[in-house]
Amino acid sequence: MVAYMEHKDLANERLDPSRGIEIRDGVHRVMDAVASAAADSGRNPDDIRLLAATKTRDVGEIMAAIDAGVRLIGENRPQEIEAKAEALLKLCAQRGLGLGVGGNGVGDVPSARASEHVGFHLIGQLQSNKINKVLPFVTTIESVDGLRLAERVARRAVSGGRSVGVLLEVNESGEESKSGCAPEEAQELACSIADLEGLELRGLMTIGAHVDDEGRIRAGFAHLRGLRDAILASGEAGTASCRELSMGMTHDMGYAIEEGSTIVRVGTAIFGERAFI
Ligand SMILES: *Cc1c(COP(=O)(O)O)cnc(C)c1O
Repeated sequence: MVAYMEHKDLANERLDPSRGIEIRDGVHRVMDAVASAAADSGRNPDDIRLLAATKTRDVGEIMAAIDAGVRLIGENRPQEIEAKAEALLKLCAQRGLGLGVGGNGVGDVPSARASEHVGFHLIGQLQSNKINKVLPFVTTIESVDGLRLAERVARRAVSGGRSVGVLLEVNESGEESKSGCAPEEAQELACSIADLEGLELRGLMTIGAHVDDEGRIRAGFAHLRGLRDAILASGEAGTASCRELSMGMTHDMGYAIEEGSTIVRVGTAIFGERAFI
């Protein structure tokens, strides 16, 4: 059990009205920032999805973000998914919204009914013994960084009679503290994953370099885009769906959007500073 989970009831549904307004304003501010970064780089804002990174936030806080228009959420820890999923599904259903694997079955793919569905991704590290905890809820795992994990997820997906979306996480910054595969092995790995039954390779994910140097942060994002383009161009089996670039967080989403991001994962700018790590 993660320590902060003992201090905060993550399944709590009640929300102080002023906190609700704070979150709504945060969502709108971030949506405006996404739109203006898209405009600055000549991109269609509809090609960039806002994922609310909801680690340490409770059900009431997450629903405030959804009520403000968020249609994609991402959790880091299987234990948090377990703690919140049931209440989230119930409250989404009350609003006529599907969530993740549950609900109206639109799933993760943008469609005419996408506004009635909230996508649900795992964005944090996954240990093999937790796969069964997340598969009933999430449509896409953004943090697959090796073939062994991919094979295990694939096996569980096949036995559950479904297919699971996967993003290959690449450690573009080379920082030791970060997960993700090495950039040199990403293309070969992506092709192996794309070929697995039960998985759909939907794209690549990275966490920006933790530095002040704009050039280095951008270089990592640009390299990820080049990798995505090369994987798509390879024509290998299963790679045609490898289109997403999940990159950009609170402090670097402007750069990421200019470098081609299709999913920005934002926590702090929506919900405020985290009280727990
Ligand atoms: C927490 C987290 C985010 C969001 O970070 P902020 O800086 O709070 O916007 C994005 N991606 C991952 C993988 C995270 O763990």
